[in-house]
Amino acid sequence: MHIPHYNIVFDSKDLTLEDELRFACYKGIVCFNRCCYDVQLVLSPYDFLRLKRALGTTTEEFLERYGEFYIGEVTQLPVISVNMSPYDYSCPFLDEAEGCRVYLHRPSACRTYPLARYFVENEKREKMELYKIIRETHCKGHYEDRPIKVIDFIKEQGLELYHYFNDLWGEIVLKRQRFSHVPLTGDILDMIYILSFDLESLREMIRSQELSHFSKEDHLKTDEELLEKGLKLIRDEILSEENLNW
Ligand code: SF4
Ligand code: SF4
Repeated sequence: MHIPHYNIVFDSKDLTLEDELRFACYKGIVCFNRCCYDVQLVLSPYDFLRLKRALGTTTEEFLERYGEFYIGEVTQLPVISVNMSPYDYSCPFLDEAEGCRVYLHRPSACRTYPLARYFVENEKREKMELYKIIRETHCKGHYEDRPIKVIDFIKEQGLELYHYFNDLWGEIVLKRQRFSHVPLTGDILDMIYILSFDLESLREMIRSQELSHFSKEDHLKTDEELLEKGLKLIRDEILSEENLNW
């Protein structure tokens, strides 16, 4: 079934974490699975780590079977997205009868729906997290009478750790957007890719002591610890103004 996503409407109201929405999604709802077709599913480094680990694939295998790799036009940063089926536009992780096959490890966009998260600066120039409700014709979850605070929805969907890593990645993306006129060299691009999306290669390089920022013991770190260290390294050193002569 192909449900094109051309009826997307955002509520005009901005929601804070303390505001409430009315929404429920469950197996058996009349629109079950309809949101899993024709999705533009771009994966953040943490989305990718969780999915790849759940599926037991290497980075290369994941890309061969499920995804696509390209370089962002403006930022020149690596992008990985999930390919929908060429026959019915379904997500490759969808089981029509049971729902999402990778539910416990589904990407942050699937967890956040029907909300969209963004940031604004308040009068004191502090960063504020806001949400908008997305309404699509096919999604009937909005008619379910279940009030829930945004902050509780975020917890219920297991988004806290995703937000932590996605915000680190977001800082990298913002930095590149601001300095998109400075091209990245091939070596820097490779390094950013390995640190953000290819932890197997990163572990290999740590073991063979090819990287000055990592000690040999770092290969014992968890995936999350390695990713955190890698993203901070990209943000603070690889993309530092001194390093790139900005
Ligand atoms: S990952 Fe799961 S929830 Fe997300 S679109 Fe695919 S099947 Fe649906
Ligand atoms: S309620 Fe919305 S999010 Fe849930 S299955 Fe239906 S279309 Fe998808």
